[in-house]
Amino acid sequence: MKISRRNFLWLSGAAITGSLAAKLGCAPPEEPEEPVVDPDVPVEEIVLEYAETSITTCPVCGVGCGVLCYVENGQIVAIEGDPDHPISEGTLCSKGMALYNMYYTYDEKGEAVQNPQRLTKPLYRAPNATDWEEVDWDWAIEEIAKRTKAVRDEYFKETNEDGLVANRCEALAWVGSAMCNNEENYLFRKFVAANGIVNMDHCARL
Ligand code: SF4
Repeated sequence: MKISRRNFLWLSGAAITGSLAAKLGCAPPEEPEEPVVDPDVPVEEIVLEYAETSITTCPVCGVGCGVLCYVENGQIVAIEGDPDHPISEGTLCSKGMALYNMYYTYDEKGEAVQNPQRLTKPLYRAPNATDWEEVDWDWAIEEIAKRTKAVRDEYFKETNEDGLVANRCEALAWVGSAMCNNEENYLFRKFVAANGIVNMDHCARL
């Protein structure tokens, strides 16, 4: 098989992620530690066969590189650049390459453990409270919707000081996220515009 730069990266990545998954105890027992790669299989078809693939976006900066997350039994076993992504074409910078460590960190023995600082549930701090409490998603979404509507209804201005049509609410602001993809950002933009929200920004100014 002719080894191109891309083939080489794929094969190297498969070998590294395969042995890493085995180390983490995520690989099925019958799987060999080193993956067997059939040289006749096109490189695009080489995947971690036992893992599900989730396509996502790197959350770190505004470039929004495409990422493939390999998941086994609900746990991430490998992360790599998405070769089909139109912008990054499979590449990730050093921060993107380290995304795995947003999920895993290492204990005092050097073993990979789930990062305990990773938030997985919404937190709520009531007015004047000093502590955050865990709440469930249904409550959080309901509460956000209720309070957003209340503020919008109270402060929505149909006209400005000169009597001209304004249809805006200056009492609300929206901050986007680099963790969101194009489609999600499109919906967010529609949402804020439909609510007359004019104060909107994004950590990466997207
Ligand atoms: S991989 Fe690097 S350049 Fe791409 S979005 Fe992530 S941090 Fe930005």
